Amino acid sequence: MSRTLAAVVAHPDDDTFGLAGSVALHADDPDFRFVLIHATSGEAGMISDPSLATRETLGRVREEEDRRSWAALGRVPDRHEWLRYPDHAVADVPFEESVERIAAILGEERPDVVVTFGPEGVTAHPDHIAVGEATAEAFERLRTDGRGGFRRLIRIAIPQTLLESWNELLVAAGREPMDPTQLYHPRGVPDGSIGLIVDTSSVADRVVAALEEHRTQANDIQDMSEQERAMMVSREHGVISWPPWAPGDPVLHDVFEGLD
Ligand SMILES: [Zn+2]
Repeated sequence: MSRTLAAVVAHPDDDTFGLAGSVALHADDPDFRFVLIHATSGEAGMISDPSLATRETLGRVREEEDRRSWAALGRVPDRHEWLRYPDHAVADVPFEESVERIAAILGEERPDVVVTFGPEGVTAHPDHIAVGEATAEAFERLRTDGRGGFRRLIRIAIPQTLLESWNELLVAAGREPMDPTQLYHPRGVPDGSIGLIVDTSSVADRVVAALEEHRTQANDIQDMSEQERAMMVSREHGVISWPPWAPGDPVLHDVFEGLD
């Protein structure tokens, strides 16, 4: 059986947070193929240390950080494409253009499983939402062309109760809780809508090593307590948007489960 996973994300590090653990779990599978598409190079992101990058170099630096993160994880993508749309302005790209560029790559690969963002974009980042919607449209067109692949579409998501537990840790540590009504703050989806829960605890150290390679974004991971970090890297969650999945249907524990 083929096992091709394609991920379509907005920024360098979205991939690491969203699916590095799932990739690590399949790292030694000879049938596993991993295709990664980044819509932007993240050049509008933070610069945690001015010695690492300037505003002009940040995009290139973050592309390199992303490559290093997969090397640190121990499984680099078999194919990695950068669309290089402007960071923070993916929503301004004509929808049809982004659909066609994503579909051109996915159409060559015919992946079994595609992973992208959902309509809430995890943090409501407009780039996340735009990438998720363009990818879902590309998936739908290719799924229905009769040439194979496109058996499952997964949208990265945070279960509501996980967000609540995370906020309890923050409050207990005397820090500000995340506010899901604010742009760029994580928001949850109802636990009952989560159709994929992957236990990544056996590869958690490798996921942390991968996250640490995003040095210009270091605050994201360095500011976390041990407990927060453990919570972040021991599970990956998703909503199944194809095939149709409803609350109460069996929850999957691997991106390829049931596709044999
Ligand atoms: Zn992002």
